[in-house]
Amino acid sequence: MTVALLSDIHGNLIALEAVLGALPPVEELWVTGDTVGYGPDPSDVLALRRERGAHLVAGNHDRAVATGAGLALFNRHAADAARLHAEWLCAEERDALASLPETAVRGSFTLCHGSLRQPLWEYMQTPDAAAVSLALADTAHGCCGHTHVPALFRGDSEATVLVRPTDGTVWDLGERAFVNPGSVGQPRDGDPRASYALIDPERSCASFHRVTYDVAETQRRIRFRRLPEILADRLAHGL
Ligand code: ZN
Repeated sequence: MTVALLSDIHGNLIALEAVLGALPPVEELWVTGDTVGYGPDPSDVLALRRERGAHLVAGNHDRAVATGAGLALFNRHAADAARLHAEWLCAEERDALASLPETAVRGSFTLCHGSLRQPLWEYMQTPDAAAVSLALADTAHGCCGHTHVPALFRGDSEATVLVRPTDGTVWDLGERAFVNPGSVGQPRDGDPRASYALIDPERSCASFHRVTYDVAETQRRIRFRRLPEILADRLAHGL
């Protein structure tokens, strides 16, 4: 069984289509939050998600666009984009976003956006933070997003360590692990290519992948829809 793990699509339909086009046949699609926010195509991304039957959890941007919750914690550009997305989406789409759970369990994996300590907001960036989430999990493994940087935290009874995964390598998840696939629609690790992961739950392993997409087309759409210019500029640098 192969699962595609996507996160932080952020309304970037061009990047999402590139990722979906690059995937091998997969049995399930898991999305660890922030389907909307920042990008030019929140509705189309939501529609694609529905058609693919993806399993989703809520991100902080999903919640902010759907209900306004947490908008005060956003920087100006993120808040401006979230308010525009709330205008563009129909009531049904906002309701769908508002109803997303903060966590979900699929087999031996618990999905969340940030962490299990703070599902919407915590950035899991250190082994200590990952260890807290692993202690809170009812499952052996977990998946998160939110940082927009791919990461693998592996733990056992002794310690939890951070692995910066390289493209294409297959990683054994060991006894306990948290997988962050990086961001489809707004990578922040200096690599502008869309990022995603493949998981084999039965063999308990994961691989991380990048795919190029037409960044200039997403930038054109961002400018056309009068989203903040910085949201177009940063995509070229993956920062
Ligand atoms: Zn995000």
